[in-house]
Amino acid sequence: MAEEKGPNFLEEIVDRDLKAGKYQEIITRFPPEPNGYLHIGHAKSICLNFGLAKDFNGSTNLRFDDTNPVTEETEYVDSIKYDVRWLGFEWANERYASDYFDQLFEFAVRLIEKGLAYVDDSTSDQIAEQKGTPTKPGVNGPFRDRSVEENLQLFSEMKDGKYKDGSKVLRAKIDMAHTNMLMRDPVLYRIKHAHHHRTGDKWCVYPMYDFAHGQSDSIEGVTHSICTLEFVPHRELYDWLINSLEIFPSRQYEFARLNMTYTMMSKRKLLQLVNEKIVSGWDDPRMPTISGIRRRGFTPESIRDFCERIGVAKRDNMIDFGLLEFCGRDHLNKIALRRMVVMDPIKVVITNYPEGKTEQLPSENNPEDESTGSREIPFGNALYIERDDFMENPPKKYFRLSLGGMVRLKSAYIIKCEEVIKDSDGRVTELRCVYFPESKSGSDTSGLSVKGVIHWVSVAHAVEAEVRLYDRLFNTEDMGAIEDDFKNHLNSESLKIQKAWVEPEFRNAKADDRFQFMRTGYFCLDKESTPDKLVFNRTVTLRDMWAKEQKKG
Ligand code: ATP
Ligand code: MG
Repeated sequence: MAEEKGPNFLEEIVDRDLKAGKYQEIITRFPPEPNGYLHIGHAKSICLNFGLAKDFNGSTNLRFDDTNPVTEETEYVDSIKYDVRWLGFEWANERYASDYFDQLFEFAVRLIEKGLAYVDDSTSDQIAEQKGTPTKPGVNGPFRDRSVEENLQLFSEMKDGKYKDGSKVLRAKIDMAHTNMLMRDPVLYRIKHAHHHRTGDKWCVYPMYDFAHGQSDSIEGVTHSICTLEFVPHRELYDWLINSLEIFPSRQYEFARLNMTYTMMSKRKLLQLVNEKIVSGWDDPRMPTISGIRRRGFTPESIRDFCERIGVAKRDNMIDFGLLEFCGRDHLNKIALRRMVVMDPIKVVITNYPEGKTEQLPSENNPEDESTGSREIPFGNALYIERDDFMENPPKKYFRLSLGGMVRLKSAYIIKCEEVIKDSDGRVTELRCVYFPESKSGSDTSGLSVKGVIHWVSVAHAVEAEVRLYDRLFNTEDMGAIEDDFKNHLNSESLKIQKAWVEPEFRNAKADDRFQFMRTGYFCLDKESTPDKLVFNRTVTLRDMWAKEQKKG
């Protein structure tokens, strides 16, 4: 993937339009339906819409596409606003498609008056039947030639609540034999006696997506209405409606939606994971939601970087989940505070270090950022190291601790292992070591040369904590291609909970802090963490599988 990229096709279009004087200023919009929490696919759309406006000194509206009265909730509206701001963007106006219900109704009346819309009493089955198929033209229905007066009256009665749900619809009068199926007299309004989260019981007719969306764009003066590829066939209708109504000519442009390996992005299915308690909530750190990714410890910078790197494609493709992790690591490496944490301890006793003595050893917080300074780590005669960092009989080129071998303890001393103590099952329980007082980090005059450096914590000072290790939620790479129940594809190992022993410095940790557990990975405090029980989420491991794969490829 190239680091330096030229303008994407949307930037080219905007640039051309501005240079041609077509607009003084561009206006984009991000139009979520408030029926769930935003996911990483939405982040792509947010970065694109807000990013374009930012780059070309335009503005972006946040427009809630709340035309479907039954599924929308204020909780979702609030979470969406929070997520957009967290990603680092600010909208010019907060709008709701439902703000335009009066205007949209008036537009519909205008179409009727022009002879371009009619009320149809056919059932939805009959309408589908009339429509034909892509290879067979549709046929005109029996209500198509109602007079303007009759249509106006019926539509007004629909609005007044005279008819039951599904008994009548308003349709555009275009062409039942049109090559584009969506142009075969699409439904513009349906009757739905339902309470709406903003307009209450005022309306019992609601506009369909195609009628609401483009008209809302036009009302707001949106110049470039950017959506995903599945809306390509809708563009013709989008233009037809705007032309027929003779309103501001917003234009629709399409790009490929983000698909990611091992990830499912439909809000409906994500809701199912939440409702069936397969995950702990919308913000479960395994969820591809922005709130889940945030709780997992990713930064807004890394998500914006990710969206930038994947670029804007015109054809559907699949992005490796590893790229998101790569971007996460890249930013966390710059900002994370380095800390020592032991997850699977063996005890080390330093036999020549006085029992009860404690030294405070300075250690840099982040070698990538001097301004973070250093902290002091307590050192004593009993330490924990990782079980993995010891081998009794090591192979050649093993640079960690072995019986008779030496290793450096990070920010402390060189030690040598002299004796291994085991329990009756032969499991190592303790290592008896000596240290070399003159080998202290920063003032080493020992002349000893060791290759390995390992992390450790002092037994007397370590704080016990819980760490939550996450892996992909699904085992299947292309979740879009599955035909069976997505629950058959869940990864049973997506969450592992483990104990860890952490530096006492963590008692000062703040919710926003990011940590690198040295040699292990990047972590942050979970929202369930308390000063008495620290809980950490692993954002990503340190090892960079994605970059390695790229090099191989
Ligand atoms: P889902 O199918 O996941 O529920 P949606 O498209 O119904 O998503 P909306 O709330 O209607 O969700 O989408 C708001 C905006 O985000 C739309 O402009 C839509 O095109 C865009 N969007 C949604 N999913 C993706 C994605 N995976 N990649 C890029 N953009 C997306
Ligand atoms: Mg939608």
